[in-house]
Amino acid sequence: MNDRPPAEPASDFIRDRVRADLQSGRVQQVVTRFPPEPNGYLHIGHAKAITLSFSIAQEFGGRCHLRMDDTNPEAEDQEYVDAIMADVRWLGFRWDAMYYAADYFDQLYAWAEQLVAKGLAYVDDQDAETISRHRGTLTSPGTDSPCRNRSPAENLDLLRRMRAGEFADGSRVLRARIDMAHSNLNLRDPVMYRIRRLPHQRTGDRWCIYPMYDWAHGQSDSIEGITHSLCTLEFEHHRPLYDWFCDALGIYKPQQIEFARLNVTYLLTSKRKLLQLVEGGHVDGWDDPRMPTLRGLRRRGYPAAALVAFCRHVGVAKFNSTHEIELLEYFVRDHLNRVAPRRMAVLDPLRLVIENWPGGPGGDHVEHVEAQNNPEDPGAGARRVPFRGELWIEREDFLEHPPKDFFRLAPGREVRLRYGYFVTCTGVDKDAAGHVTAVRCTYDPATRGGNAPDGRKVKATIHWVAVADAVDAEVRLFEHLFTDPDPARADGGDFLRLLNPQSRRVVTGRCEPALAAATGGESYQFERLAYFYCDHVDSRPGAPVFHRTVTLKDAWKKAQKAK
Ligand code: ATP
Ligand code: MG
Repeated sequence: MNDRPPAEPASDFIRDRVRADLQSGRVQQVVTRFPPEPNGYLHIGHAKAITLSFSIAQEFGGRCHLRMDDTNPEAEDQEYVDAIMADVRWLGFRWDAMYYAADYFDQLYAWAEQLVAKGLAYVDDQDAETISRHRGTLTSPGTDSPCRNRSPAENLDLLRRMRAGEFADGSRVLRARIDMAHSNLNLRDPVMYRIRRLPHQRTGDRWCIYPMYDWAHGQSDSIEGITHSLCTLEFEHHRPLYDWFCDALGIYKPQQIEFARLNVTYLLTSKRKLLQLVEGGHVDGWDDPRMPTLRGLRRRGYPAAALVAFCRHVGVAKFNSTHEIELLEYFVRDHLNRVAPRRMAVLDPLRLVIENWPGGPGGDHVEHVEAQNNPEDPGAGARRVPFRGELWIEREDFLEHPPKDFFRLAPGREVRLRYGYFVTCTGVDKDAAGHVTAVRCTYDPATRGGNAPDGRKVKATIHWVAVADAVDAEVRLFEHLFTDPDPARADGGDFLRLLNPQSRRVVTGRCEPALAAATGGESYQFERLAYFYCDHVDSRPGAPVFHRTVTLKDAWKKAQKAK
């Protein structure tokens, strides 16, 4: 990240190119940019593009711009502009300058008049449907428009009247005059401007014609002196047009370099589809913790540093591929393991009663045992946790009739209560239906702290929370939002059919008292369960809400599944 000393730049086809350009002197200082269209929230795919462009600038002592690619007011909004800025900052990057493509509208228009004057652009009266029909195919050439041979003077007059608002929306366009038989369809007289009467979040009502992506992007890069314009592979076939416009205008031409999009199993990375999820009410919003948006991932508890480490690890490639979500989860766990304080919480409570507790199990007698905050971080210290004669344990940590490979609590079995004592199960209480309502135990006072002076061993350690001290908290348990690892490839595009009905389950957690102080924005490991994030949106003082970020690996459950 920006505040760290630059590491030795890694080697990949983009960095090798940048290095060569610096060595040959073609480039003096590297300038990159991240150019989102403010028509939605950033998602994990954008994190890759952001990490790449910002890291390359940083590694090579250059600059990186944030540019709003705001050339199409139809779906754009100031709300998105603000969110994008906040999300890039949250990821840990700081731009050297901020720009808006809309600020280049005057320059772009002046350049359009230049192309018209040179006979390299013309006004076409055909509608969009006709233009696209006459574009031809990969195997057949397109058909010239009847307007293609208008004189520069006539075109200039029409273009000015287009700009002045004399024509109806969609009635005319400005097209580059290139080659209707070009093997690259993008060069078959592409549209440069269309008429659209819509106020723009930045330019208001000043314009009723708006530039197309291809007519705006390369020139915006050129104006800013971008040296390496990094974008995803789908723009490879646009590069000849990017170059054509710069050459036709005789302006500085940046180098566009394409890399593969980031795809991750179970995650959708199309703003259009994410919008459908939000608008259809299938999630609670753009920041729903099940969304692959940066806001969603943040509320899920994915640390920004883990996302960046993941993006760096997957690196850049020339071919699209899909990464397993487990790889992303590995980076999240790896980071949280180092920084997250450990706490105890019980999510599916079963009462454990210690019959020989001083003063009786339900009495006032309390002992405070010492618990380490993070075994990975000696500096994290320890805390005191109240231990009493009645405790909550996890229901799945007890089986009345255990199979051979189950080593946790069972009748006659001794286990360790983490940081506390050894307990031996002496029996169970049941309700009328035969369900176990409590486990009865005795404890060995000599095992305080979790070790027996006679050296005897137990095969399991389980977590617990004293009933009388437990703090209730809402705990949201998330699963994948989709049942299929590749929701984007759903039949007929109907990815909504693949929504997982069990993607969120809400339970009441019984938490150790230290968790009452959770304020929101921080992560914990609930021992033996998972990493949890204290939600910065819904938590209230004394009433934290926890989101399950990612589970710990559960060897026993895995073995059960394998059977
Ligand atoms: P969508 O297709 O979801 O609407 P987009 O590509 O149109 O996304 P932009 O705002 O135009 O979104 O993207 C800004 C930058 O982020 C572009 O340079 C784009 O190439 C890059 N980007 C978008 N999605 C991905 C992805 N999945 N992986 C890597 N880079 C991406
Ligand atoms: Mg785009």
